[in-house]
Parts: sequence; structure tokens; C-alpha cells
Amino acid sequence: MSDPLFGAVEAGGTKFVLAVGAAPDRLQDIRRVSTSHNPLETIAEVVEYFEHRPKVAALGVASFGPVNHRSGSIANTPKAGWKDFPLRDALRRALNVPIGFETDVAAAALAEARLGAAQGLRDSIYMTVGTGIGGGVIVNGAPVQGLVHPEIGHLLVRRAPEELPEFEGICPYHRGCLEGMASGPALQARWDRPAHELPEDHAAWRIEADYLAQLCMNLACTVSPEMIILGGGVMEQAQLYEFTRARTAELMNGYVALPRIEAPALKYPGLAGALMLAMEAAR
Ligand code: ADP
Ligand code: ZN
Repeated sequence: MSDPLFGAVEAGGTKFVLAVGAAPDRLQDIRRVSTSHNPLETIAEVVEYFEHRPKVAALGVASFGPVNHRSGSIANTPKAGWKDFPLRDALRRALNVPIGFETDVAAAALAEARLGAAQGLRDSIYMTVGTGIGGGVIVNGAPVQGLVHPEIGHLLVRRAPEELPEFEGICPYHRGCLEGMASGPALQARWDRPAHELPEDHAAWRIEADYLAQLCMNLACTVSPEMIILGGGVMEQAQLYEFTRARTAELMNGYVALPRIEAPALKYPGLAGALMLAMEAAR
């Protein structure tokens, strides 16, 4: 008999990415569908994808958040129709399979911890620095859930020494939190052009590294992971890794050992993590 097949869904605010596979390192048939304003339309496309393939034993859903783990829904989003939409139950009803449900970043963290850059480590954190900033925390090999779940992207940061006096940050909830100061859209708002157009030697990247170093310092002092993985579109600026490591060391000032700060190793950490969630749900 062939290996059982599992389904993976990475649910994002602009697109859903779907895949099937017998194992997280064997993702097949990766398909993108755009996230409709009407969740029922998106669900219909997801269901159509899985109905046209061999039956999956279970599905893993790695969702944008914040999510509500108890109800399997997205707890808060400016996308009106999606707020409190019962994503997990809608898919379970339509496909009649067990479903594992986590935040996208917790799933990515799980995949990087088991198969990627943090393989073999017990405690690691995966961050995405992109349109938003978010992080998944792995402690003793499992994602941390709490009252909600970690929302590391909204840590409060102090202004970088070289910050522009007029820039106040763009988070609609907290203005100058980490996401407000260091996400891709924050870079665009501060410098008035898309982040990827800023040259490698632009002052933007020293300022960015200061915020990322505050993040790493705060994570080292709270969770004390062995590794912090920094991914997402903004980290395409490879110079940020060295800048951030150096600035984190300055901030820590020799007090305790620093976690390693690394790039992700997996091409699709969120999808691979979703497939792991499916395998766990099937057990
Ligand atoms: P998302 O967060 O939407 O899933 P990404 O992780 O790709 O997607 O992040 C997109 C953000 O990353 C955008 O704000 C974009 O400006 C920024 N970005 C993409 N490529 C680069 C680059 N080469 N340098 C700096 N920023 C980039
Ligand atoms: Zn915020």
C-alpha cells in the first residue's frame, strides 16, 4: 500500500497556498488561490483542490492571525468577512477529515525546528519580517500557546538612535511597536519607496537592524531560545543578519549568552509545518 497522503493549507490575508504530500519534505502540487473577501468563496476553492486529488488522511491549516485556537477561527483582521469565520470547522465539514490548526508562524517554527535551521534544538523561535511581523515560539519541541498565542511582532520597542524624528510607526493598534517600525510597509512609509528599492548601503538597514536586535535581545531575555530564525521578505537584505547579530551583542553587553540568529533553511516553512500538523491530527 502507498503512504497515506496529507493536506497542507497556508492561509494568508492575500493568498492561500495549498499542497498535498506524504511527508513535510515531499510537498506536491503547490497551488495558490487568492483570498476572497468572502471566505465561502475561498473555502470552495480549497475544497475543490482537495476533492480533485486522492483523499487526504488529515489536513493541517496554518493561518494568519491572531487566531482563536479554541474555535479554530481568525480572531482579528481588517478583512471584514474573515473576522471570527470558523475556518477550521468549515473545512472539516466540507472535507470530513481531522484538522490541525495553528498560526502560520507557529507552523513555520515547527517545520524549521524539525527539518530546517533549528533541527535538533529544543527551543527556537521563527520570525517573519514581511508585510507584518510575527513569530512562532517552540519550547520543548512544541509551539507555545497561551491565553492567545505569542504576538511577538507587536513587542514594544524604543526608538532606534538614528530614527527619523518625524516617523512614528504605522501599526494601527500601537503605532511604534516592532511591526509599526520595522515591517516592510513601515520601511516604505519611512523612506517613501518600497523596501526592496532601498540600496544595500542605505541608512534604513542600520535602523532596521536596531529594531531586530531589540527583538532578539527581548526574546533572549524572555524565552532564552537556542536559535532565532529571521525570515520574510525584508530579510532578503542579507546584510541585515550581520548587522542584527552585531547590534544584539551590543545591546546584550555580555550579560548572558546570545541565541544564534540565522536565516530559514526551508523554502516553504509554513506549508511544511501545516503538513506536520496534518500528520499529528491524523494520529
Ligand atoms: P508576506 O509578509 O506578505 O507574506 P513577504 O514575507 O514576502 O510577504 O514580505 C513582503 C514585504 O517584504 C513587503 O513589504 C516588501 O516590501 C518586503 N520585501 C520584499 N522583498 C524585499 C527585498 N528584497 N528587500 C527588502 N524588503 C523586501
Ligand atoms: Zn502593533
